[in-house]
Amino acid sequence: METEVLVIGGGPGGYAAAFRAADLGRQVTLVEADPRPGGVCLHRGCIPSKALLHVARLILETEEAKAWGLAFQPPQIDLEALRTWKQKVVDQLANGVAELGRRRGVTFLQGRAAFEDSQTVRLEGSSGGRIRCGHAILATGSHPTPLPGIASLPSSTGRLMDSTSALGLEEIPGTLLVIGGGYIGLELGTVYAALGSRVTVVELTDSLLPGVDRDLVRPLQARLRSLFQAIHLQTQVVAMEETEEGVTVTLEGPAGGEGIARQTFDRVLVAVGRRPNSAGIGLENTQVAVDPRGFVEVDSQQRTRDERIFAIGDVAGEPMLAHKATAQGKVAAEVLAGRATVFDPQAIPAVVFTDPEVAWCGLTENQAKRQGQEVRVARFPWAASGRAATVGRTEGLTKLLLDPDTGRVLGVGAVGVGAGELIAEAVLAVEMGAVAEDLAWSIHAHPTLSETLQEGAELFSGLATHLYRKAG
Ligand code: FAD
Ligand code: NAD
Repeated sequence: METEVLVIGGGPGGYAAAFRAADLGRQVTLVEADPRPGGVCLHRGCIPSKALLHVARLILETEEAKAWGLAFQPPQIDLEALRTWKQKVVDQLANGVAELGRRRGVTFLQGRAAFEDSQTVRLEGSSGGRIRCGHAILATGSHPTPLPGIASLPSSTGRLMDSTSALGLEEIPGTLLVIGGGYIGLELGTVYAALGSRVTVVELTDSLLPGVDRDLVRPLQARLRSLFQAIHLQTQVVAMEETEEGVTVTLEGPAGGEGIARQTFDRVLVAVGRRPNSAGIGLENTQVAVDPRGFVEVDSQQRTRDERIFAIGDVAGEPMLAHKATAQGKVAAEVLAGRATVFDPQAIPAVVFTDPEVAWCGLTENQAKRQGQEVRVARFPWAASGRAATVGRTEGLTKLLLDPDTGRVLGVGAVGVGAGELIAEAVLAVEMGAVAEDLAWSIHAHPTLSETLQEGAELFSGLATHLYRKAG
């Protein structure tokens, strides 16, 4: 068959590209290895994990409520009902995506695609055969980084899990080892801990969420220290053996630190990062260039080195986030339609949906330090937020990174319950080139957590009238 635009991969990057290209009048075919579009994000990533994190939050909140005079019985967990509910959420959204494609006249084909040349793709799956295209948009996403020494995940017993099998929620293990203290390890560790597992996290570096500003991680780390059974930093798994009883691991701590320990866990979740899906798809038959980490090289219009092929989303580089994939998908579709659109965001929000949530956008303090860039940092602790007090969660922090001369908002970070929703306003401020006074004079509803942004901005602008300021 022939198509004007062929999109390979039906995740949040691929379907957004396909829909935008169809809206701009192009004839579009979307091929996806799974039976339904939606990608990792919808079927085994963002959506199922957030559904389970919502459940986790509810459980944890009932425990917090003891301090307010409300005692609940521990929850009786019907795992099958929980799995059914999670799947219902996924199915509803997946049907929605499929319907949106149909309405736009996007042809959906199930199959695994590989390039034979820049304009020819062979498809293997329920729709087989060869497709000739005017242009292709590569949106094949990423897969979990394997851990050396582990042949495949999940293991045949199911005890060794990747994020996909962990989201399958086969059982609530008594003990769970999470290898990797990044996004997935902490989010899914929180889910299992709330459901009743005793969770241990092993992280290679000296901090959870390495790379994220320390003051944002600190309140989360403090809370996770009480939610989890143990957190071992600067620690590696040097041996792992599946036995009748479970998985016995040998952990090697920092030199001069905890030394070597052996421990047996009911299950192990490996979450040590993700890698782009750029191998085995025939890129060697095209002009597409791939960097040493496997990411497809693209310019600011998502063009690869092959004039017929664009690339977007996880396969096209960091950050590997769904909303970045979607934004890039729209850019690629617009460029294909002859528009002068570029992918040049000032702020891509990142949210770790733990409890508390950690969120940031634009410039971070770590980046500013690395670049030797001078910034003023306005920190507003949630201990001074009325809203945070009313929900009993005052450990949070909102901080603004501001240009010292102009007060322009360069970046924002927040940690606390609901920080993930708060970051949207910060993205708008950074993208619109707002200065601190813009935020300080914008009236924010009281009592809301959004006031912490206003009050942070007031600290810089000399407008602070709040108790926190008076208290110095
Ligand atoms: P994907 O969503 O990976 O989709 C790629 C699609 O291409 C897949 O469906 C795959 O089957 C298909 N494909 C691959 N190769 C071929 C081929 N040769 N032929 C045909 N089809 C092919 N991000 C967030 O922003 N927020 C979150 O809360 C979040 N939570 C996550 C939780 C987990 C557990 C995981 C694993 C990831 C999470 N992410 C989250 C990351 C997010 O899922 C990815 O950044 C996002 O899905 C990337 O979108 P994409 O379109 O580039 O690729
Ligand atoms: P990650 O990069 O966030 O974290 C991996 C962690 O594992 C790091 O802290 C790393 O230092 C550690 N690590 C690496 N090798 C190790 C080893 N041998 N032993 C112990 N620790 C080791 O990766 P992830 O958690 O697998 O998630 C993958 C990506 O998916 C994320 O980077 C993110 O882009 C995306 N994601 C996003 C969200 C969200 O937006 N809320 C949620 C989940 C996943």
